[in-house]
Amino acid sequence: MPRYEYRCRSCGDTFELSRPMAESAAPAVCPAGHDDTVKLLSTVAVGGSSAAPAPSPGSGGGGGGGGCCGGGCCG
Ligand SMILES: [Zn+2]
Repeated sequence: MPRYEYRCRSCGDTFELSRPMAESAAPAVCPAGHDDTVKLLSTVAVGGSSAAPAPSPGSGGGGGGGGCCGGGCCG
């Protein structure tokens, strides 16, 4: 659910409300109980989990290999 930011013109407080987009234009009441509020244009932060950075592949590794010394052919 998107968040919208409002500012109360009575007490000057700003507050956020999570409400459906269909109600984004509905009047909001500030936490102090005033209803003289205006909706601010703020970036809509869509909730969700932040994607963790993928580990870079191919770091390290290699080595090993060569079955000769395991078979007794090296000496
Ligand atoms: Zn207020």
